[in-house]
Amino acid sequence: MSATILDGRKVAAAVLERVRDRAAALFERTGVRPGLTVVLVGENPASQVYVRNKTRRAEEAGFVSRLVALPADVTRERLLAAIDELATDRSVHGMLVQLPVPEHLDPREIQRAVPPEKDVDGFHPLNAGRLLLGDDDGLVPCTPLGVIELLDHYGIPLEGRHAVIVGRSNIVGKPLLHLLLARHATVTICHSRTADLEATCRQADVLVAAVGVPGLIRGGHVRPGAVVIDVGINAIEDEAAGRDLLEGQARRLERFLAKGRTLVGDVHFGEVREVAGAVTPVPGGVGPLTVALLLQNTLQAAERQLGECG
Ligand code: NAD
Repeated sequence: MSATILDGRKVAAAVLERVRDRAAALFERTGVRPGLTVVLVGENPASQVYVRNKTRRAEEAGFVSRLVALPADVTRERLLAAIDELATDRSVHGMLVQLPVPEHLDPREIQRAVPPEKDVDGFHPLNAGRLLLGDDDGLVPCTPLGVIELLDHYGIPLEGRHAVIVGRSNIVGKPLLHLLLARHATVTICHSRTADLEATCRQADVLVAAVGVPGLIRGGHVRPGAVVIDVGINAIEDEAAGRDLLEGQARRLERFLAKGRTLVGDVHFGEVREVAGAVTPVPGGVGPLTVALLLQNTLQAAERQLGECG
């Protein structure tokens, strides 16, 4: 059996088209374009790529997109003052500080400084609490929203199904738990201390890996026919790891051997696609959806701030 490949790029394009149309309609009604500002501290190369991607996509969607770049040694006070300025700027409807931030800064303090109504990453405790309570007036983290968007797009049922999430982070695993519960799935959450990961994963109708360990989920973790969603984005450089994880993907392996570096997920794609009913690739799975849902969150924040229900 070979699994259906769930195409995140295609689903993200559909979300972006919806967002573009809604943003254009908002502009017609109010004369205002949604505004997204990203704050980047330092010069982490991966963060620079993510930020560029976010601001470029925002522009393509007809948003006003701004980047505030601060030096790696910016003081806590200076950063908080910059956040404060954006918090009171009425042209900024959504804002985020790209993580990770340098060691001398406290990400939790930063997340709490962003006003909840502009917190398009959905990391503020008030938004996390609203999600936990099932309120629909908060902003929800983009990656878990992207997972739900993907499952919905492909008509994958959740009600009464057993969903197993591997990873309990505040940005993926925990918010996804609440989104899946709200869809009436029975949810199990696994983590680094789970006693028998393989047996627990094998119970899943829908298995989501959000771990950060390349290829952790192998064929033996998957019940035949299950849906497997790979949130992981991991850079690998080790040749033996590349040969293992890119097994059955000759062209990708060739490119990896030439370049010495590639991105893989938390799922061993070659093994899992032989067992699963459907699986997301990396790249091209959940990744593109995260940015698309960030723009949807920004649009929603703009609509609310402009007094529209959205
Ligand atoms: P994290 O490090 O905050 O959390 C990882 C979780 O995995 C922890 O809860 C830990 O208990 C669990 N874990 C670690 N080792 C384990 C093991 N051997 N068995 C079972 N559980 C284990 O990570 P995160 O921020 O949630 O990110 C997870 C992955 O998702 C990373 O690869 C990250 O790059 C990726 N990610 C992708 C997107 C996207 O846009 N697609 C967004 C966020 C994160």
